[in-house]
Amino acid sequence: MICLGIEGTAEKLGVGIVSMDGEILANVVKHQPLFGGIHPREAAQHHAENIKDVLKEALKKAGLDIKDIELVAFSKGPGMGPCLRVAAISARTISLSNSIPIVGANHCIGHIEIGRLVTGAKDPLTLYVSGGNSQVIAYDSGRYRVFGETLDIAVGNCIDQFARNTGLGNPGGPIVERYAKRGEYLPLPYIVKGMDLSFSGLLTAALKKAKNADIQDVCYSLQETAFSMLVEVTERAVAHTGKDELLLVGGVGINRRLQEMLALMAEEHDVNFYIPGPEVMGDNGAMIAWLGLLMYSSGTRHRLEDTTVIQRYRADEVEVNWR
Ligand code: AMP
Ligand code: MG
Repeated sequence: MICLGIEGTAEKLGVGIVSMDGEILANVVKHQPLFGGIHPREAAQHHAENIKDVLKEALKKAGLDIKDIELVAFSKGPGMGPCLRVAAISARTISLSNSIPIVGANHCIGHIEIGRLVTGAKDPLTLYVSGGNSQVIAYDSGRYRVFGETLDIAVGNCIDQFARNTGLGNPGGPIVERYAKRGEYLPLPYIVKGMDLSFSGLLTAALKKAKNADIQDVCYSLQETAFSMLVEVTERAVAHTGKDELLLVGGVGINRRLQEMLALMAEEHDVNFYIPGPEVMGDNGAMIAWLGLLMYSSGTRHRLEDTTVIQRYRADEVEVNWR
C-alpha cells in the first residue's frame, strides 16, 4: 500500500509519499517565507496556493501518478486552525476524487513514528522539540503518554521570538546556534516545575539582557539554559520510565548543542540515543503518510465526517493500536 501524507500545521506545507514497507518515496516541504511571526491566515493562504505544485512535485519525485496512491493521510492537529483546514480539505479532495480511504493523523505522534522508522528505535522515550511543541513522550499501555511539557511557549518559539526581536532574523534556531558558538555564560532564569517547563520568562529575560550584553553571550546562555531545562526533564523521565532508548524529534532537534547535551545524559544512563536526519526531523509529509499507514493497517477507518481538525489535539488522546 502507498500512502500520501499532507502536513500543514503551521508555516510549512509538506507532501510525503511512503510505502507500507517503510520506504520514503518522496518528501517535499515548502516553507512560507516569514518576515515576522506566523500569521495563521496568511500561512493557510500560502498552503492553499502551493498545495497543487507541492503535490505534483512529490508525485514526480516518487515516479508515481495520483492513481497509484491508495491511502491519503493529513495532520489533524495540533496546529493552527486555518492551516490545518487547508491540509484536511486537500486530503478530502484527493480521497473523494480518487475513491481512496482517508486518515487523520496526530502530528506529534507522526514525529515519533517517523523517528522510530528511520532510526530503528523500538520503544524510546522521545523528546519532541519544535516551534509549537515541547514535550517528553513515551509509549505505555496503549497510548503515547506525556511525561513533561511546556506550560507556556515551545522552546523553538522562544528562540525564534528572541531572534526576531533582536533583529537576528528568521527562523531563529539555526541563527542563534551560530551566534552561540562563541559566547560566554550569563545567568538567565531556569524554570522547571516538576516535570514541566516554562520558556516565556526565559525569553523576556534574554531579550532584556540583549539590550546591553554581547549578543553571542546571550545566544549561548539562552541555549544553555533552555537545553539544560529540557535535558533535566528528559533525564528524570528516562529514570522514571526505565526506557533504554532516547529519541530526539522536531526542528529544534537539529541543534548540535542540544544533541551533544542529550548524548552525554544518555551515555550516563546507558541509554541508546537516536537522532533522525534533518529531512525528517522538522515538520514533513512523510511522517504523516507513515503514521497514516500504521493506523490504517491496524484497522483505523475514518469516515469523511471524522476528518475534522482539532487545534489542540494531544498525543495522549490517540488510542495506539499499531504497537
Ligand atoms: P518544526 O516545527 O518541527 O518544523 O521545527 C521548527 C523549529 O525548529 C523552529 O522553531 C526553528 O527555529 C527550529 N530549528 C531549526 N533548526 C534549528 C537549529 N539548528 N537549532 C535550534 N532550533 C532549530
Ligand atoms: Mg512539529
